[in-house]
Amino acid sequence: MDTFVKSRKGNDQLTFNGFIFEVESRKPNGKIYRRCIEVKKGCKGRAIQDESGVRAGKNEHDHPPRTVDIEVRKILGEIKSQASIQQGQTPRAIVASAVSETSQIIKAALPSVQALKKRPQRSRQLALGQPAAPVTMGGFRFDGEFTVTYTGEQFLLVDTEGENDRIVIFSTERNLQILAETKHWMVDGTFKSAPPHFT
Ligand SMILES: [Zn+2]
Repeated sequence: MDTFVKSRKGNDQLTFNGFIFEVESRKPNGKIYRRCIEVKKGCKGRAIQDESGVRAGKNEHDHPPRTVDIEVRKILGEIKSQASIQQGQTPRAIVASAVSETSQIIKAALPSVQALKKRPQRSRQLALGQPAAPVTMGGFRFDGEFTVTYTGEQFLLVDTEGENDRIVIFSTERNLQILAETKHWMVDGTFKSAPPHFT
């Protein structure tokens, strides 16, 4: 069976018999010659695509089929497309449904759940054209989905909205309760990943 998966750059790559192929050349008669994506490592595997379908070239691949890689890429593609279609779904629900019928082997090969949950956010950001990171402290407001957790709980607790000195506190009531009941606090900063002006 042949289907397509996306390359890192977003190009369609053909999967056929467990191998992945990129375009090598397109002929005027409509035939597409494809080479195995492991061509740079020396694989001579090829596939030829025409209106009657896909067939393998003469040369054998010098590596095992990339079955796991193909499944992982399909799931990542599914997460991405669901994130743009299902705007109302939480990232958690999108990831859960995309991996629901996946074997343990594939799950082990997937990026961590935390990393996967960020994918819908990124795709959604692209799909909706959502705001870029602010360049000054003032002139923007947090509203709607930016003020609540994925489960709808209030998350933005304080925003002083100052132009120069602005204090924004994100937390749930429950997290504050836990903090209040705890004897020892340890503090850390995520300065490297925080947007400029918030460090
Ligand atoms: Zn190959």
